Amino acid sequence: MTGGAKRKSEAPAGAKAKCPICGKPTDPEYRPFCSRRCADVDLNRWLSGQYAVPGEPADQTPTDEDSEA
Ligand SMILES: [Zn+2]
Repeated sequence: MTGGAKRKSEAPAGAKAKCPICGKPTDPEYRPFCSRRCADVDLNRWLSGQYAVPGEPADQTPTDEDSEA
């Protein structure tokens, strides 16, 4: 294939999405993740959060805001 025209609309400028799991640049094939593994990890998290509910509100995350460098 020879149409080597550089298109600037290939990726949104300044909007590089990162994998929410590992922080790597996302892969268009596994958006919004970087790989199928990370997509699986997120899916598992989501599923366990939906089906493995212990019965008590375990969503009380302590405020760790003192680690602000
Ligand atoms: Zn990842």
